[in-house]
Amino acid sequence: MTPPAPTDSGRRALLRASAACALALPALRAPAQAPAPAPTPPAPTPWRNWSGLHSASPRLRATPGSEAEVAALLREHPALPVRCVGAGHSFTPLVPTEGMLVSLDRMSGVTVLPGSEPLARVQAGTRLSVVSRQLDQANLALRVLPDIDLQSLAGAIATGTHGTGATLPAMHADVVGLRLVTARGEVLECSEQQRPELLAAARVSLGCLGVVTQATVRVVDAFQLRRRVWIEPTEAMLANAEQLARQHRNFEFYWLPFTGHCAGIAHDPAPGTDVLMPPAADEDVLRDLRRLRDTLGHVPALRRWVAGQILRRTPAEEARNRSWRLLSTHRPTRFNETEYHLPREAGLACLREVIAALESRNEVFFPLEFRFVAPDDAWLSPFHQQPSCSIAVHAAADEPHGYLVDAIGAILRRHGGRPHWGKLHGLRAAQLAPLYPRWKDFLELRASLDPQGRFLNAHLREVFGVTPA
Ligand SMILES: Cc1cc2nc3c(=O)[nH]c(=O)nc-3n(C[C@H](O)[C@H](O)[C@H](O)COP(=O)(O)OP(=O)(O)OC[C@H]3O[C@@H](n4cnc5c(N)ncnc54)[C@H](O)[C@@H]3O)c2cc1C
Repeated sequence: MTPPAPTDSGRRALLRASAACALALPALRAPAQAPAPAPTPPAPTPWRNWSGLHSASPRLRATPGSEAEVAALLREHPALPVRCVGAGHSFTPLVPTEGMLVSLDRMSGVTVLPGSEPLARVQAGTRLSVVSRQLDQANLALRVLPDIDLQSLAGAIATGTHGTGATLPAMHADVVGLRLVTARGEVLECSEQQRPELLAAARVSLGCLGVVTQATVRVVDAFQLRRRVWIEPTEAMLANAEQLARQHRNFEFYWLPFTGHCAGIAHDPAPGTDVLMPPAADEDVLRDLRRLRDTLGHVPALRRWVAGQILRRTPAEEARNRSWRLLSTHRPTRFNETEYHLPREAGLACLREVIAALESRNEVFFPLEFRFVAPDDAWLSPFHQQPSCSIAVHAAADEPHGYLVDAIGAILRRHGGRPHWGKLHGLRAAQLAPLYPRWKDFLELRASLDPQGRFLNAHLREVFGVTPA
């Protein structure tokens, strides 16, 4: 059926209607208001370190999943400064950047390499606890571990992270090969055979030679340890410390302020596989020491007497387990920390001065840690060609910590100490250079790999004495 032909008046009405439609159409096609702006990408989440002392708002936070992605990122953003972050457990502002913050959390895993020497290839973002677990499944272990095992492998070696043991060097000494992506996005490989000078520099790099993507690590057969923890008067502990360090695989002690006592911790190889794990008492001790400070801090003699009465009766404690389950522990209470590594022969004399300085401040309650570390050859290793004692002093994260850097730092420096790169210190290039025989070599290599200083932030410019371009 055909529709009826429109009349003249009908035609005019139709024309008006179609004209109105034509006018209305653009309005139907596009809304009357201004075009919607393109969605802005969400601001990257700010970053904060473990103790809460440092924060940063990088323009870009990247989590590459492969070495190729790391290289692409560096090439795609040539104008952005870059810093890497591991677990954020450093106390010094090594990580903060306003540019690109790169985390290798997605690059995790361990491959045991075939061959006569036990070696493992470890992805740089792998947390130490994961390294230990995966090695354990292959009946292998890391030779050395620090107090905690939450750090990433690359983050741990970048600052010279260490454990304790007069014959045991820091973790980076077991790194026999590295792969890193430079500021230009090039991949470099180094080992004891290939570019050995780069390996010596990159073992402890403070993250400023490039993004480390993987490390080849010398490992050992899995082993069982026996741990003994005991309380001893401070004078006796100091008198016996050198001998205990020679006697045990791992020996360290904690000085407990305003108590007249120390806690010794020794680990030695043990036969068998039996497990004895008493509940950890560290947090209880810390809480008790803080309470004692809060209630009796203004009467040091009474504080010392009460603490002495309790500690004298504390029995020694024994534990047995796989090495990695005993060597590292948990630290739920947040703190800030300084640590210096002293020539071994200077350690105990320096400790006496530090103790006197700390006991002139009634507010101090955190235990001080004293450890032993064997030398190695990495250019910026704080143990470079120097058997060392380490003195670590802590302050609760919610309490002042300035005296760690000023008063305590001054004593540690006077005894020839080199600061832990990841722990609070106030040293700048002019003070650091004389402490490191290969300082100039490191600076030249850094400048050749990264002439624009992409991998430097404000803190590192001061450490290396590099002025902004
Ligand atoms: C509770 C606690 C206990 C600790 N115990 C010990 C101890 O027993 N012994 C000891 O020596 N230290 C100890 N530390 C210090 C800690 O081991 C070091 O500061 C370590 O560097 C932290 O590792 P991370 O993965 O958190 O690295 P981050 O702090 O995140 O970074 C450290 C450095 O590594 C660089 N980095 C990270 N990933 C890469 C990468 N892929 N490529 C290149 N550079 C990279 C960063 O840029 C930065 O310069 C402790 C710290 C805390 C908070």
